Amino acid sequence: MRVLVVEDDALLGDAIQAGLKQSGYAVDWMKDGISADQALTTEPYVAVVLDLGLPRLSGLDVLRRLRGRGTPVPVLILTAMDMVDDRIKGLDAGADDYLVKPFDMGELAARLRALIRRASGKTEPLLHVSGVKLDPSTHRVLYRDKPVELSVKEFEVLHAFMLNAGKVLSRAKLEEQLYAWGDEVESNAVEVHIHHLRRKLSPALIETIRGVGYLMPADKAA
Ligand code: CA
Repeated sequence: MRVLVVEDDALLGDAIQAGLKQSGYAVDWMKDGISADQALTTEPYVAVVLDLGLPRLSGLDVLRRLRGRGTPVPVLILTAMDMVDDRIKGLDAGADDYLVKPFDMGELAARLRALIRRASGKTEPLLHVSGVKLDPSTHRVLYRDKPVELSVKEFEVLHAFMLNAGKVLSRAKLEEQLYAWGDEVESNAVEVHIHHLRRKLSPALIETIRGVGYLMPADKAA
């Protein structure tokens, strides 16, 4: 899943990018408000980490433009310790959560998981579809209660399908969500990951919808 980090402090931005990559996210990092605004108009992110004090366009203005376009992507703002006013303005402008600097990377990752879960309409942290259980916090996957070893990208592909169970995902859409700018993408990478998932879990897990994309059928309501 692809996350946008907007932070002009080089050290902090670098640490956030590295930390989130380690959690399996594809991360785009923008260092000013205008670049962030442009990225947000064109790229599909599952969440945004937004510093408020930014060059060229403030984080608050980035947020107002984003919400002005009606984009519902969850936004977590980063604010300085003494800036209570900023936090209030940020939340009122459409931020979903905030963290005060300095913060713990583990807490940032956990808050993002919660935001992404809520945005997908799920309340349960554990995803459960077609006999597959996936825990986003521990990266553990069980199929029919047996553990399955997946690579980081295989896990991310499966996670995307489980969050979108019952919806067709095109290859382009999966690639956009899995890779950040500048990542090397093999032309058939998505097909290879899906092939591995079918082999490691079940051939019937992900259906190919010819000419359109792929579908993980949702469980029928009990
Ligand atoms: Ca800043």
